[in-house]
Amino acid sequence: MFSDNHVHTQYCPHGSPEVMEMYVQAAVKKGLTRLTFTEHAPLMIDDTVPEKDSAMSLEDLSAYIKEGEKLKKRYQHDIDIRIGLEVDYIEGKEKETEAFLRKYSSLVPYSILSVHFILLPDGTYFCIDYSKESFMEKIDQVGFDTLTQTYERTLHKALSLPFGDVTPKTLGHLNLIQKFDKAHGRKVLLDWTALLDKVSENHYRLDYNFAGLDKPLYGQTYPSAQLVSQALDQGIELSHGSDAHHPDEIGRYFERSVENG
Ligand SMILES: [Zn+2]
Ligand SMILES: [Zn+2]
Repeated sequence: MFSDNHVHTQYCPHGSPEVMEMYVQAAVKKGLTRLTFTEHAPLMIDDTVPEKDSAMSLEDLSAYIKEGEKLKKRYQHDIDIRIGLEVDYIEGKEKETEAFLRKYSSLVPYSILSVHFILLPDGTYFCIDYSKESFMEKIDQVGFDTLTQTYERTLHKALSLPFGDVTPKTLGHLNLIQKFDKAHGRKVLLDWTALLDKVSENHYRLDYNFAGLDKPLYGQTYPSAQLVSQALDQGIELSHGSDAHHPDEIGRYFERSVENG
C-alpha cells in the first residue's frame, strides 16, 4: 500500500512533460516508501494508433534508465526507487521481446507485462485501449465476441511465461478490455477464474491498477473489486499501481484498496 509500482515519466509520448524527479517528490510528499518507474518499453511492432505514441522510443531508453539511477541515489534516504518497464506482450513477437528483455534483464524484476495490442484473425494488430471510437468501430468490424475472446486468448499466452526466466511476472491491468464497458453496454464474459488460476499457477502478481477509476466509461479499479477479492482468496499477490502519467496521479485512490475495506 505504501508503494506505487506503476508509474510513467516524461519519456512516455502520450504522457505529460513533467520530469521523473517530480514524480519522486510527489511520492515522498504522499508518504510512500517505494516508487517503481515502469515506462512503456519500446514496441516490437509498428504502433497502430494514429499518433504513434504508445511507447518510449528505443533512443530514449538509456536516458530513462540513467535518470532513474541518478534519482535512486539522490533520494535514497527518502524513498526506495526502482526502475522497471511496462512491457507489451505482443503475440507473434515473442522472440524479439525476449531478446530485448535479456539485454535489459536487470529491469525485469520490477517490470509489468501488459496486453494493449491483440492480434486479430485477419493478421492485424489492434490497440484495445486507444479510444472509444476505435473500440466501437472494431466491434462492428470483427464482432464483440471475437474481440474479447482474442484478448482472453492473448492473456493466457502472456500468463504462460512467454519469455522464460526473463518474463516480467506482474500482469498489468488484467481486465483492460473493460475500459469502454459503458460505451457498448455489453458484458465482457471471460473466464476470469481460469485466468486467475493461471496467474497463481505460474506465480505471477497482479497489477492492482487505480487508473481505471478515472476512466469515465469504466470507473473501477483494474481488476474490479470483486476480482481482486477473488485473487486475494487464491493467495495471489497484488502490486499497487497508479499508472500515473502525471505527478499529481501518484498513489491515486490507494485508500480505496479492498484491503482497506
Ligand atoms: Zn501510458
Ligand atoms: Zn502503465
